[in-house]
Amino acid sequence: MPGTDLRIQRPQVGLCCLFLLVISVMAEAATHPCPGAKLAVDATDEENARLACAGGTSAIDFLGALGLKKPPLLVIELVDRLPALHDTGLLGSFDADQGRLRVLSYPRCQAIARRFPQFGMPMDTDMYRGIVAHEVGHAMMAFSFRGPRPSILAQEYIAYVTQFMAMSPGLRQHILEHTEISAFEDESQLSLTYYLLDPQAFGIAAFKHFMALPDPRVFVRRLLSDGSPACCADSESD
Ligand SMILES: [Zn+2]
Repeated sequence: MPGTDLRIQRPQVGLCCLFLLVISVMAEAATHPCPGAKLAVDATDEENARLACAGGTSAIDFLGALGLKKPPLLVIELVDRLPALHDTGLLGSFDADQGRLRVLSYPRCQAIARRFPQFGMPMDTDMYRGIVAHEVGHAMMAFSFRGPRPSILAQEYIAYVTQFMAMSPGLRQHILEHTEISAFEDESQLSLTYYLLDPQAFGIAAFKHFMALPDPRVFVRRLLSDGSPACCADSESD
């Protein structure tokens, strides 16, 4: 009878779903070490982990060259969802209190970028490296300071510069040639209102300003230390 068949099948469907869920949870536990860097990526997809490694390594090398202290080990969690109050197009986050560095998986970033494009461009692997580098930049800044953290504006300035530096020269050039955003004239123009209203415009203005600096290392040290001797690697005793 049809009714009897249904009663038998329902528990089987439930067990099947539970089995798939268990497999899914187990797959999320894979950790991929990044070659040549104190960095690892938790991901279900090896190719996605390789992309994240490339972005994260770029950030560590770039900020290390600017004098920031390299962290002992960073782990990037690639996730399909981020905690967010609103649908804002958030692609990554670093929680300094918990030390958790999370970036959306490449397919999720592609999906979100269709509604919230980065610098007016589609999300490709080149752009994705920059997204990862931005968040790793936040993590490195957190590890470089013992005392008060740098201001949000200082952190975002450096994170966006790190993001642009992780892109290919061709992508950087394309973005800069297709924008009317001009460079910050000096750091007094770093505005929280500007950043909150249009973070990507803030990022372009920051990167253009950075590229015109006569001595980026000195500027970054001053910007991040905000007048106190907190930054950077060669001012640390360990
Ligand atoms: Zn940021």
